[in-house]
Amino acid sequence: MSDAPVALVTGGATGIGAACARRLAAEGFRVAVHYRSSAAKAEALLKEIPGAFGVQADLTVAAEVDALIKELKAEAGRVDVLVNNAGYNVNAPMLSMSLDQYDAVSAMARGTWYLSKGILRRFMLRAKSGRIVNISSVVGHTGNPGQIPYTMVKAGLDAFTKSLAQEMSGREILVNAVAPGFIDTEMTEELPSEVKDAILARIPQGRMGNADEVADVVAFLATRGHYVNGSVLHVNGGMYGG
Ligand code: NAP
Repeated sequence: MSDAPVALVTGGATGIGAACARRLAAEGFRVAVHYRSSAAKAEALLKEIPGAFGVQADLTVAAEVDALIKELKAEAGRVDVLVNNAGYNVNAPMLSMSLDQYDAVSAMARGTWYLSKGILRRFMLRAKSGRIVNISSVVGHTGNPGQIPYTMVKAGLDAFTKSLAQEMSGREILVNAVAPGFIDTEMTEELPSEVKDAILARIPQGRMGNADEVADVVAFLATRGHYVNGSVLHVNGGMYGG
């Protein structure tokens, strides 16, 4: 087993997660690329990153999270950094959204909580150190029509960040969040062009961000930022002066 510190990136096969995986590998981490359905993308990424390994789980299913923790223990024996990047959204106004759709989006909050608990118990508390970086969103602060459960999950993730940072008080375990604005990934590709134009008009820098610009801030929180704790760092081109 390698001595390199290990970073687990959830939803690491695509978009912002893949950028985080590449960037944390460049910082010297052995990266665990978690995926749910994007097996082919994970496999392609693993070929790019020396020493990285893939782990599969639906994070909304507790038994799959338990199995994931066991796999990480067997494969790496440690997890020094957890990037809670996986996210799920259904675009629909409240009046046309079903309760099942609401539950599917909300389930990610429970999954993030349960995975973080497992990683803390199994690895970080024993090591007496660790970094957790949660990928939140500007819309958790501004709200966004058509995304009520998603905005609730992201606002909740910021509260989770602050509360967990306080629960970890006295330990060298720092918990922060990065709140991206409008980032060019598959998630935003799906938006209708009139919605995209309306969002672009609200960004002082006049463009979408890219996944590497988010990964840069994640790497800062994972490796430096020694006195940054319980914070939400906004990466949004000035979209919401946060
Ligand atoms: P993305 O490529 O669609 O990434 C979402 C990831 O979440 C996928 O890798 C997916 O894994 C994973 N995922 C979804 N449901 C899951 C589940 N039940 N269990 C495990 N994994 C699951 O989009 P992205 O833009 O890179 O998003 C990454 C994060 O950034 C998300 O938390 C998103 O909310 C946040 N964010 C994005 C933007 C933006 O503008 N793009 C802005 C603010 C915040 P599989 O593909 O393997 O199923």
